[in-house]
Amino acid sequence: MSPYRSQKNYQYLVFTDLDGTLLDHETYSFEPALSALNAFKERNIPIIICTSKTRAEIEIVRTELHNTYPFISENGGAIFIPKNYFSDVFPFTKEESDYFVIELGTPYSKLREVFEQIKNLNPGKIKGFGDFTPQEVAELCGFSVQKASLAKKREYDEPFILENDTDLKKIQEIAEEASLQITRGGRFYHLLGNNDKGKAILLLKNIYKEKSEHLKSIALGDSLNDFPMLEVVDYPILVQKPDESYDPSIKLKNLILASGKGPSGWSKAVFKLLNKSL
Ligand SMILES: [Mg+2]
Repeated sequence: MSPYRSQKNYQYLVFTDLDGTLLDHETYSFEPALSALNAFKERNIPIIICTSKTRAEIEIVRTELHNTYPFISENGGAIFIPKNYFSDVFPFTKEESDYFVIELGTPYSKLREVFEQIKNLNPGKIKGFGDFTPQEVAELCGFSVQKASLAKKREYDEPFILENDTDLKKIQEIAEEASLQITRGGRFYHLLGNNDKGKAILLLKNIYKEKSEHLKSIALGDSLNDFPMLEVVDYPILVQKPDESYDPSIKLKNLILASGKGPSGWSKAVFKLLNKSL
């Protein structure tokens, strides 16, 4: 229990969702946000990925972005902190390859046990990532089979789909009885433990705050599963859905509505904020 804490004094942290936010819903490109990403880089502002994606998927995106900051996987299931990143002590759950890992989620095996009960509500009409082949996941998500196999490496969150005639309330009841919860992202419902993006962000922010007292935070998202993240930052930004609407379930007094979809909304909102406040 004795790794390191940041010596750097940061003023701002940026937390971002990936699918439908920094990455385009259809093409998974972050190209429209490149200049905004560079603007943060020039100001030495960390960009922390906070997504429902798995660690294996995030590692690919981090490499493409040349991003070496900590990251949060599977809807707040775990925080991965590169071992050479902080220089003071902080508590963590385990060491794994190049990371100190803080686990907040429920193990995937337990989620799948409960998901088997959920499937029985409407047999054949509720399916999770654990039931799909990589080919099926690739088709549902619109990416390669290789990427789908990374998306199937679940540790703390089970994404699932259901047919219209399924009663979501009953699914929620089963989840709650097992001390689990249901949330929704851009494409899927998710079964997960008592974790969420907001809890993980608060924990990570506190580690940064040891050396950066007056730290302000920005977060960008597009869906219900981003709500806990948007709730705990100073500048919450909601980007548009593919049909140019805003997720109606996200209501916050200080919410900033980006005037664009996914990464182009990301870029516009960030530049507006950089010009005004930062
Ligand atoms: Mg999203």
